[in-house]
Amino acid sequence: MSAVTVLNNQATAATDAEPALTDGFQLVIDALKLNGIENLYVVPGIPISDLLRMAQGEGLRVISFRHEQNAGNAAAIAGFLTKKPGVCMTVSAPGFLNGLTALANATTNCFPMILISGSSEREIVDLQQGDYEEMDQLAIAKPLCKAAFRVLHAQDIGIAVARAIRAAVSGRPGGVYLDLPAKLFSQVMDAAEGARSLVKVVDAAPAQLPSPDSVARALEVLKGAKRPLIILGKGAAYAQADEAVRELVEKSGIPFLPMSMAKGLLPDTHPQSAGAARSMVLKDADVVVLVGARLNWLLSHGKGKTWGEPGSKTFIQIDIEPREMDSNVAIVAPLVGDIGSCVSALTAGMAKGWTPPPAEWTGAVSARKEANIAKMAPKLMSNASPMNFHGALGALRRVVQERPEALLVNEGANTLDLARGIIDMHQPRKRLDVGTWGVMGIGMGFAVAAAVESGKPVLAVEGDSAFGFSGMEVETICRYNLPVCIVVFNNNGIYKGTDVNPTGGSDPSPMVFVPDSRYDKMMEAFGGAGVNVTTPDELYRAVSAAMDSGRPTLINAVIDPNAGSESGNIGSLNPTSAVRKGPKT
Ligand code: ADP
Ligand code: MG
Repeated sequence: MSAVTVLNNQATAATDAEPALTDGFQLVIDALKLNGIENLYVVPGIPISDLLRMAQGEGLRVISFRHEQNAGNAAAIAGFLTKKPGVCMTVSAPGFLNGLTALANATTNCFPMILISGSSEREIVDLQQGDYEEMDQLAIAKPLCKAAFRVLHAQDIGIAVARAIRAAVSGRPGGVYLDLPAKLFSQVMDAAEGARSLVKVVDAAPAQLPSPDSVARALEVLKGAKRPLIILGKGAAYAQADEAVRELVEKSGIPFLPMSMAKGLLPDTHPQSAGAARSMVLKDADVVVLVGARLNWLLSHGKGKTWGEPGSKTFIQIDIEPREMDSNVAIVAPLVGDIGSCVSALTAGMAKGWTPPPAEWTGAVSARKEANIAKMAPKLMSNASPMNFHGALGALRRVVQERPEALLVNEGANTLDLARGIIDMHQPRKRLDVGTWGVMGIGMGFAVAAAVESGKPVLAVEGDSAFGFSGMEVETICRYNLPVCIVVFNNNGIYKGTDVNPTGGSDPSPMVFVPDSRYDKMMEAFGGAGVNVTTPDELYRAVSAAMDSGRPTLINAVIDPNAGSESGNIGSLNPTSAVRKGPKT
């Protein structure tokens, strides 16, 4: 531990006569530092302002946001990128609630994150006597995260932080809430005793080996496959078992399909990638190996038309969470364990005898893929103005191809769906997007943390609607001078910019924004660079320049308001009225 002198104003420097003291503020910081936490994503205020000042003084990087949800999203994605819990700190009640959306989202996405919120006095909160920002935060957080703890005594801070870290990263990762009442921070205790109370977590996410029986069963099933498919999910990306995953794919010769945030785990340009033949492989495969991917809505729950003839599939699933098995359909060969161990066990088993999948299957996949890629190519070359999504994304695809180390943040409806398909990823954990909930609002939080954690340039491709949820953080990006280039696909509205008010009244449709807005001016307001572009060529040049300069930049990309479709490619989830009055667009 560092110097035992406490920094807050009530305490005095240690002398020979008085024992050295520490306090709650200092112990929280010491506990985090001891466990390798380097960055805090925060919004200051009562009762954590001094904590944040002290944390910065002690060498932690404190990134201060304009809204807690963005700070929380930053922490969550930091967790995904680093396998260490991302830490968000907020004030009590409203600040806590704002952070909670991100905590719930982190939990849903299996990202390790710790939300630490200050809270009001227990005695008053529990008797509901009307304290400043009174709220039983622990009770509210509990159902929305993996674990929730409250600390009442300074000597328990070390244990609480250790428990929070373990809960966040062990097994299936997720969000953890840590409630720190205001009074805790100023509690004083003997410094040596305080130092002894801290816990350095050993082996926070232990390897979990699959049972030999389950490996044998999976291999047996896999060997019988005529049309096998490997689906890589973001759990596989998170696991950082990149080499082991590559070995399984390449030694088996099985086509693979990456889920959105697993793109780049193996390059999208890999000969075995079936990304461009997605519909075909999902429909026609007979044995599917799920590697850190859940059979949730993003995979049509493993059933229905997407998956071809009923009963045509046999599933092998690798997951660290035993209860994930059989969640939607029967899993014939469950492999419970960490991705690295499970995948290595399969590869080792294959070394004892393995026949690659029939050329009939791999050839059919390649043929379909090439046909689809060829069909798409001319659309991506479009230099039309106003731009359509394909022309604009074709330009961005080149930018990313030329900078494979850059991180891509992506949200929106059409902007998301089309970018996911069009922009190839070349390295693991470079694509960060709306994840399991398909939630809007992750953009600027993710972009900030991506830059902070990786030190690499970040490209955020944002629908104009999606950008609005976190747009104020452009100030944060400028303040910390982060190498973030934001491209706002501005088509004047939600899905499209062409909806009208059916009554003919002066209020605009709820689906449109101020037409021809200049989002680039927002960045200029804070000293960053703003650029307005109307053609794919201009877009390509502006983004390339921004990425090379590392200067905070916002590019307003003018997209045809008629381009885009309702709810992107998940229009089927948006109920429409059979009796709606007025224009249907
Ligand atoms: P995607 O949306 O990309 O399909 P999901 O978030 O649905 O991915 O699934 C990720 C899965 O990965 C979760 O079921 C989670 O339990 C699992 N997972 C996360 N980390 C690991 C790990 N280290 N080892 C094994 N499974 C993991
Ligand atoms: Mg739009």
